[in-house]
Amino acid sequence: MSVKDKVVLVTGSTSGIGLGIARAMAEAGAHVMLNGFGDPAAITALRDELARAHGVRVGYHGADMARPDEIAALVHAAQKELGAVGILVNNAGIQHTALIEDFPRERWDAVIAINLSAAFHAMQAAIPGMKAAGWGRIINIASAHGLVASAQKSAYVAAKHGLIGLTKVGAIELAGNGVTVNAICPGWVLTPLVEAQLQDRAAREGVPLEEVKRRLLTEKQPMAEFTTPASLGALAVFLCSDAARTITGASLSMDGGWVAA
Ligand code: NAD
Repeated sequence: MSVKDKVVLVTGSTSGIGLGIARAMAEAGAHVMLNGFGDPAAITALRDELARAHGVRVGYHGADMARPDEIAALVHAAQKELGAVGILVNNAGIQHTALIEDFPRERWDAVIAINLSAAFHAMQAAIPGMKAAGWGRIINIASAHGLVASAQKSAYVAAKHGLIGLTKVGAIELAGNGVTVNAICPGWVLTPLVEAQLQDRAAREGVPLEEVKRRLLTEKQPMAEFTTPASLGALAVFLCSDAARTITGASLSMDGGWVAA
């Protein structure tokens, strides 16, 4: 059993880690439903590129992952266009940094909705099809911040810890159905989400971007190196393999030693 000819839905796959996972899945022969925001022409070009390069079908649905009705529509669109969703990767996520006492309520609600509740809604829509097929893989992209905390990230840390809890419940509930549910916990990955934090910090601390990158890495990760979207994609593909069929309920770190320190 591999991902070849399976249908994979990757939320938030127009950029960063989600795109790396979508690419790795397409390379391994899966049909891919993309989701996320972005320039329509660039998304069309991406669909064409992946489909042509790997001989797979690639769809796109622009559901806003903050909206449960749109999430259900996304899963149904994937099923209708590509076939039953065998692999669900809950990846869409946003960040907001502020002290708890300054944290805007609207930003708290948005981070919890997109980084945590969206995974619940997508799982709810996709699980019946996986059960019917007797096979499925659910991969929740959590974070080192699903296992440990940092200041100024209350909503993000709460959402990612919650996502790991949701992963464990899913693993237990689906253990007899051939469906595994796991979380991947990346450390720093150089994506637009982190680039925004780097720019803010460079401006705040008045130091060049390269120095901010060095500081960011060395203060958290014993291995002062960014993890890449491609490596995370390779881990996701492995989790879909037959060799990984008894890995469930796990939180797999790919973080340069962050949570070991
Ligand atoms: P990114 O900003 O590059 O990509 C986020 C993706 O989510 C984009 O495709 C964006 O369009 C989409 N998205 C955002 N809000 C959405 C919404 N409301 N509806 C639909 N799509 C939406 O970010 P990234 O760094 O690739 O992050 C991806 C995931 O990885 C997130 O869950 C993030 O928390 C997690 N993560 C990132 C890092 C890191 O260092 N970059 C580390 C650990 C975990």
